[in-house]
Amino acid sequence: MAEPIPLTELAEKPVQILKGVGERKAQGLETFGVRTVLDLLTHYPRRYIDRTKEARIADLEIDEEAMVLVEVRRCSTRRIKGGRTMTSVQVGDGSGSLAITFFNQAWRERQLTVGTQAVVFGKASLFRGKLQMSNPIVDLVGDRTGRIVPVYPQSDKAGLSTWEIAGWVENALERTLAVRGFADPLPVEVRRRYDLTDRARAFRGIHLPETMAEAQVARRRLVFDELFRVQLALVRRKREIERTTIGVGHDTSNDPDSLVARFHARLPFPLTGAQTNAVEEIRRDLGAVYPMHRLLQGDVGAGKTLVALSALLVGVQGGYQGALMAPTEVLAEQHYLGVRELLAGFTVKDPATLLGERELRVELLTNRTPGADRRRLTEALATGGVDIVIGTHALIQDAVGFKSLGVVVIDEQHRFGVEQRAALRGKGDGGAVPDVLVMTATPIPRTAAMTVYGDLDVSVLDELPPGRTPIETHWARDEEQELAVWDQVRTEAAAGRQAYVVCPLIEESDKLEVRSAQDTYAELAEPGGELAGLRVGLLHGRVAPAEKEEVMGRFRAGELDVLVATTVIEVGVDVPNATVMVILDADRFGIAQLHQLRGRVGRGSESSWCYLVGEPTTSDGEARLEALVATTDGFELAEIDLELRGEGTLMGERQKGRNDLKLASLRRDREWVERARDVAAEILDADPDLDTNPLLAEELALFLGDEDADFLLKN
Ligand code: ADP
Ligand code: MG
Repeated sequence: MAEPIPLTELAEKPVQILKGVGERKAQGLETFGVRTVLDLLTHYPRRYIDRTKEARIADLEIDEEAMVLVEVRRCSTRRIKGGRTMTSVQVGDGSGSLAITFFNQAWRERQLTVGTQAVVFGKASLFRGKLQMSNPIVDLVGDRTGRIVPVYPQSDKAGLSTWEIAGWVENALERTLAVRGFADPLPVEVRRRYDLTDRARAFRGIHLPETMAEAQVARRRLVFDELFRVQLALVRRKREIERTTIGVGHDTSNDPDSLVARFHARLPFPLTGAQTNAVEEIRRDLGAVYPMHRLLQGDVGAGKTLVALSALLVGVQGGYQGALMAPTEVLAEQHYLGVRELLAGFTVKDPATLLGERELRVELLTNRTPGADRRRLTEALATGGVDIVIGTHALIQDAVGFKSLGVVVIDEQHRFGVEQRAALRGKGDGGAVPDVLVMTATPIPRTAAMTVYGDLDVSVLDELPPGRTPIETHWARDEEQELAVWDQVRTEAAAGRQAYVVCPLIEESDKLEVRSAQDTYAELAEPGGELAGLRVGLLHGRVAPAEKEEVMGRFRAGELDVLVATTVIEVGVDVPNATVMVILDADRFGIAQLHQLRGRVGRGSESSWCYLVGEPTTSDGEARLEALVATTDGFELAEIDLELRGEGTLMGERQKGRNDLKLASLRRDREWVERARDVAAEILDADPDLDTNPLLAEELALFLGDEDADFLLKN
């Protein structure tokens, strides 16, 4: 028998070599991104029809789900009220007949021509004494036989049917399996440990299972392969970086005299347990020879800033400089003011001065920093006179250089591009690479983080500082409930507190969004409007920077009662006196965004409210609002979000390619993410360059070329 076939070889065989695939069909397949035999074999069934469960029409029970194989006898469509259409289909199977109705699916007429055989899945009911089903699932199976029939994603436009695809897949499997079989890159020992079937069985089982159990076994193996490849790429890259880059040797001492310890001792409150752990993890990283690359996840208000500051101070106490980059000027200024206060009076060693020490110096650099100040500041950064600089993108301008940048912190990392983050890291003195801490307030589940941020180490602040008053969240589902919302806004304003009103999100057009904000503002603030008589400000993406600053300043100073705004307030606004957040058309926002917006209130000691106003038109929209009402825990919300949005969405919007997780679900298969990571680490420990695992190396290069691996590492 010839050598077993590696997947890489199948990636070189065009689908045209298969029986029945000509130019036209090949073009159709191309619309799914299927060009090669490998593409076809990884074009997995969407689901299966288990024909062992097939019933006859005569046996259908009312209100029970069932599946019947039928032939179409008649089909017609008519208009009904409300501009809708109703398609009526008469079907039968020799034991009886059944009336099927579809609403607004006039295209069914083309699908269900007289004589067509179809498998129909749904709940039967009685209507005027006759059996009927409405909007059932319908599959055309052609002449496929077998007990379990795979249903492939298909496209009417491409002119491909699921049974054609099934036929080609079968042909492809026959040619490969019967003759040579699949090469399997996964060590037998690993397969045994996790009870994973071999690759040949996996491909056969996913496409041509004899039983549903067989399809499950196959899925497990293929899911593992998908996750394993991603983890292998990530772990390998991470190891490579650790091997080839030299970090800064920090002074990580923590004795009572150290800057870090003194800083902690002077805080008016103890660190939370989660903060202590994160600080410790970071200290360990900073002491290691390779540069830190760590993600700090923590909900809004979890206290990330203190952790970041502790990291910066470890650098400073060893004579290095630290930089903190924030996405907006508002945020940078806020950080700057807070940090300066926290560090007031601390000194650092400086042999160049008379006393051998000087005051620790913190500076702010944004695009608003005036020219002269900027020149002085860049000079001081270059000579080491500034210990910590806080700023925006202005920090990565060419003119800015450091004497000895040791620690870099990037807040709200998702707001920055890879290049920007790399640019700041690149400001080291050319020798050692600075340590990097990136922070995000968008929690993602742990296993998802392992995939999306696979090259980063992750610290989590999963505990809020004590004494917070939880935000009460309500969902206003109708106009009456909405009136109560405005009552609450007026009540709070009368008590001297403030409110945000977030306008409907309009993703398609910035212009429309601005208009909706202006309209909302006018409606609420005009005489007779719900907020008439209150001091109301307006903020949206097209307000000029100076005016934006003025409005924000007035809101911060308490000169405005209400701020009507688009999502521009999502990050960084910190006004403890604001106690009400009203989000209009809340069902249009994603869970993460709603959670972020809600985090703008509840920052002081007063009780706070978040009102979600909306009448969702989808069940997902409803589920999102319910989730927000049910919990304020960001990690729990992240799990729900993943659940609702389904597979693959975390991987971003990059082009669909081979490396997509086609079968694997970061949610459903979460324990497999960890197993895949373990195996990847194990194999790379023994064989860092995959020299003794050439099959794996080739497959990895095929599925996750450099570009893809880079993408994974860009998050
Ligand atoms: P975020 O994680 O959203 O960046 P911050 O770092 O801005 O959170 O902290 C939010 C607030 O909580 C700040 O006012 C900060 O002083 C306070 N805070 C942080 N850590 C603690 C703690 N351990 N105990 C009490 N308050 C804390
Ligand atoms: Mg913060």
